[in-house]
Amino acid sequence: MAAEKVNDQERDNPEMVALREEALAALSKAASLAELEEARVAFLGRKGKLTSLLQGIKDLPPQDRRRAGMMANRLKGWLEQAIDEREKELRRMELEAGLRGERLDVTLPGRHVTYGSRHLISSIIEEIEDIFIAMGYRVAEGPEVELDYYNFEALNTPEWHPSKSLQDTFYVDASAVGREDVLLRTHTSPVQIRVMESTSPPLYVIAPGKAYRHDVPDATHSPMFHQVEGLAVDERISLADLKGTLEFFAKRMFGEDRAVRFRPHFFPFTEPSAEVDVSCIICGGKGCRVCKGTGWLEILGAGMVDPNVFGYVGYDAERYSGFAFGMGVDRIAMLKYGVPDIRYLFDNDLRLLAQF
Ligand SMILES: [Zn+2]
Repeated sequence: MAAEKVNDQERDNPEMVALREEALAALSKAASLAELEEARVAFLGRKGKLTSLLQGIKDLPPQDRRRAGMMANRLKGWLEQAIDEREKELRRMELEAGLRGERLDVTLPGRHVTYGSRHLISSIIEEIEDIFIAMGYRVAEGPEVELDYYNFEALNTPEWHPSKSLQDTFYVDASAVGREDVLLRTHTSPVQIRVMESTSPPLYVIAPGKAYRHDVPDATHSPMFHQVEGLAVDERISLADLKGTLEFFAKRMFGEDRAVRFRPHFFPFTEPSAEVDVSCIICGGKGCRVCKGTGWLEILGAGMVDPNVFGYVGYDAERYSGFAFGMGVDRIAMLKYGVPDIRYLFDNDLRLLAQF
């Protein structure tokens, strides 16, 4: 700030002393360049207080004019200098604030970039694909929003079958397009039908993907889950081929010393059908908590393709036979890596996911 000393001449003019004090207060109060500009205009602008005072000098008696003029001009010079100084001060403060805001501390360690990894489910699917591709299978995909025809009817599922109920299946409101038969596929099996419709035998495919059921989530159930479907159709395919294929798969997937057993079961689209168990990957068959003391883990369902299904896709059931199987990827992941709750797989908690 400019010198605040009041000299003798000013002391004689209380109006100028007051104006000087007022200007001083306004300048210190100005906290930004914009506020400082306002203060400048208030005193030195065309209608500013000091400007008016200077203009009033010509009306003074002639003997007072010279002295008043000198004093007013000196006040003006002082004020201009004071504004200049305050401006420099404000600019310095703004610069410092800006520098504080974007301070770069070169001594800080660099930011660690973590690499992502595949989701456990994706890795397991890829592992399963590799095993079957090595046996000559190809990978097929189909839509997750499916028609009743592909999900149930062409798979030989009768109208009355309980899995078609609203309690088990998510139906999609497709009334806008005039359909009532749209649903979220309840298994990956419809891909079998789609592949057979567009391909002539022989064919060897697996179809990995998501499926949906109206399940309340708990440790072993999730409304969205993953399956891998397998289908082989060729001349002279027998149950022995199915057994050999699944045994090869189980040993590759879970270890060379795994045994496989077939238990008779019912599926609408295979006949005969079986549930397939692998000797427990935790206890090796002795019996433990995971296998509930049985020594076996159920990992998939399989069977010989029902000739009725061939009828839907126009295959010659006299000439061709085939087998199909389906497995739950989530269950395999849980068994293989000891994940105790299926929901952990879909929580996106990195503490779990980063382990794989
Ligand atoms: Zn066990």
